[in-house]
Amino acid sequence: MLSGSLCLNDGEYMEHLDTELLIREWQEIVDLLADIIDVPAGLIMKLDQGKLEVLVSSKTPDNPYKVGENEVMEGSGLYCETVIKSNKKLKVTNALTDEKWKNNPDIKLNMISYLGFPILYPDKKPFGTICILDSKENHFTTKQEKIITKLRDLIERELTILDNNFQLKKLSEIDKLTQINNRYCFIEKAERDLKRSIRYKRQFSLIFFDLDFFKKVNDTYGHQAGDAVLKEFAKTVNGELRSTDIFGRYGGEEFIVALPETDLKSAKLLAERIRKKVEMKNIAYEDDNISVTVSAGVSELLEDTRLEAIINRADKALYKAKQSGRNKVC
Ligand code: GH3
Ligand code: MG
Ligand code: MG
Repeated sequence: MLSGSLCLNDGEYMEHLDTELLIREWQEIVDLLADIIDVPAGLIMKLDQGKLEVLVSSKTPDNPYKVGENEVMEGSGLYCETVIKSNKKLKVTNALTDEKWKNNPDIKLNMISYLGFPILYPDKKPFGTICILDSKENHFTTKQEKIITKLRDLIERELTILDNNFQLKKLSEIDKLTQINNRYCFIEKAERDLKRSIRYKRQFSLIFFDLDFFKKVNDTYGHQAGDAVLKEFAKTVNGELRSTDIFGRYGGEEFIVALPETDLKSAKLLAERIRKKVEMKNIAYEDDNISVTVSAGVSELLEDTRLEAIINRADKALYKAKQSGRNKVC
């Protein structure tokens, strides 16, 4: 999970951003921390779906914590559970003489003193902790506390940058109005799937949709009503697709779907099902009930294996559907 992807929040994983670089940097931070403060363990712990996981662990002799080790947080009795729940610093100078801590699981690893701070996501939800542990009684000085909080602040700032980059990337991929892939992102994803289909000699089809007389919708009901129709159309199509299908807005009122593992016949059946759904729909916008129809052209992967060629053939089929009266699949 950590190699190249990091859960940002609520299951949003960042696959393509350079999270490996970040983890490498954090590794240097905990290595330095353990070295300067002279303790056997410096850790960054991460809360992921209710589990506390060792995200980064200092490369120090006698450090018993391994990256990837995890435990359900609730009721674990770990020092970090308390830090996360209280969202406050925790200092335990000697767990063996501390009634509250003398049975905690880290004692088995001979870690009897602890200093840890919470790390928060930009939205202030808990990310995890940064902490140091020692095998002997340790009162940790104010200066040492300052060092850790400074590093914690640095980590939080990096999480903010990562979050910003992630949001920007999403913005650059998604069509704002319909919340589906924009043309460029569609092409990127479809190219990737097409390559896979060619390599494994699998089927691959495309449907090109164009709403009929859409200019008239705008002219009759206004541009905002037109926008609402485009949104509703995208929702209708999305409801008919599999998670592996790729759906994008190709341009104004033109949409495109790439269907891996699908032959021409099945693609036409799907296009027909969508065409009917759209025809049956009444879209309520302010005082109006708007109905539209859609034409579709379907094509599949043939000898010319370029995505552009498959799109061109779907476009030609769409032209035929328009020529033969619209509200048709060809
Ligand atoms: P045809 O059946 O031949 O496709 O006719 P059409 O009117 O749909 O085709 P045409 O290409 O003449 O017009 C497309 C219209 O789509 C014109 C344009 O204003 C409208 N359009 C493009 N993008 C948007 C958008 O984001 N919102 C709205 N409301 N309209 C859009
Ligand atoms: Mg058009
Ligand atoms: Mg049109």
